[in-house]
Amino acid sequence: VRTPLLAGNWKMNLDHLQSIAFVQKLAWTLSDANHDFGAVEVAVFPPFTDLRSVQTLVAADKLPLAYGGQDVSEHDSGAYTGEISGAFLKALDCRYVIVGHSERRTLHGETDEQLAGKVAAAVRHGVVPILCVGETAEDLEQHGPSAVPVAQLRAALASVPKGTELVVAYEPVWAIGSGQAATPDQAEQVAAALRGVLAELLGDETAAATRILYGGSVKSGNIAGFMRQPNVDGALVGGASLDIQEFSAIVRYQK
Ligand code: 13P
Repeated sequence: VRTPLLAGNWKMNLDHLQSIAFVQKLAWTLSDANHDFGAVEVAVFPPFTDLRSVQTLVAADKLPLAYGGQDVSEHDSGAYTGEISGAFLKALDCRYVIVGHSERRTLHGETDEQLAGKVAAAVRHGVVPILCVGETAEDLEQHGPSAVPVAQLRAALASVPKGTELVVAYEPVWAIGSGQAATPDQAEQVAAALRGVLAELLGDETAAATRILYGGSVKSGNIAGFMRQPNVDGALVGGASLDIQEFSAIVRYQK
């Protein structure tokens, strides 16, 4: 059984002071609603400058929240101005790190080869990568729904050993921030194809244990439909993760 993971990608929003207020309120809201954090895991992905504050708060109040970075360097240390090592994320007790978000791929030119390096770096440092894959509207029209996400998954897992813990997030680029989510059926179709590739590359056991998330215009009103799909194990939420009421409603989805 895969524990569902509901993750909030804050992108470049909320500074370190705002992050403290937000995480406190989120934890209170969910505990007040008797959220079972063991049954549905909740994670937040703040900007790097917030991570130390979030770590301190989570540790001090023993909050049952996971957190992680939005990116990681493929290198371990050295002359890489502006980069953040997986070792630094691990030192801040990050459980996860997002790798290959479409905004990194398009706005920062991250290549499949580089992303394979980033996945390997996260794994090397004991931080679980949340690898993002997804097609543009043009890809969808030209190649159908699964071809590009499957190719991105294959490329990123090139040097990942069997048994590695990772999370895959299927985020169609056309659905991100557009208000136009994929349908649950569309998400399931691609998630099933991705799980097939995981089985081929990492073995049946790892494929069965790996959580596949859907991302792209997830809201409290559409989350249940995704969570009903057998191969969708959670969501990576952007805009709606910045609204406490909305994000806690997403976390407390009813199938
Ligand atoms: P939205 O939920 O704002 O569409 O963003 C999705 C996303 O990019 C999460 O990583």
